[in-house]
Amino acid sequence: MNTDLFKKIIAGEIPCEKVYEDDVAFAFLDINPVNPGHTLVIPKKWSSGFLDADKDTICELIPAIQKVAKAVKEATGADGINIIQNEGEAAGQKVFHLHFHVIPRFVDDGLEHWYGKAVDDETAKTLAEKIRHSITRS
Ligand code: 5GP
Repeated sequence: MNTDLFKKIIAGEIPCEKVYEDDVAFAFLDINPVNPGHTLVIPKKWSSGFLDADKDTICELIPAIQKVAKAVKEATGADGINIIQNEGEAAGQKVFHLHFHVIPRFVDDGLEHWYGKAVDDETAKTLAEKIRHSITRS
């Protein structure tokens, strides 16, 4: 499991195209961009992903994500932006240091969104109840 790569990038041990840094956040171009300008925003404090990050880190990171997203949009002339976080291998996570993808999007850039699946009312009700229950216990 790749947990150290981004620590090494923050430390300057692995080169990157850095675009932003503050006390909490670090942002750099993705080495294999979905579209040119695809940027990763990460907290300096390590967590594996979003679910195990502490609340303070998340609260402090969000403004940096917004700042970088605005800059990526302006610099690339993008029509839109996707901000994505892959949590866990099943969701496509390969580097286990919390990171948000800031992906510039263009009309007709050929990328497709995933499709929704139909769910029956009973299943939806049961799942909503389970989620509400889990939230009240947290
Ligand atoms: P994940 O699949 O974990 O959500 O995304 C990991 C991202 O890190 C990928 O988009 C991948 O291209 C990027 N990445 C992996 N290794 C490096 C690297 O050494 N340097 C940079 N700049 N990006 C990397």
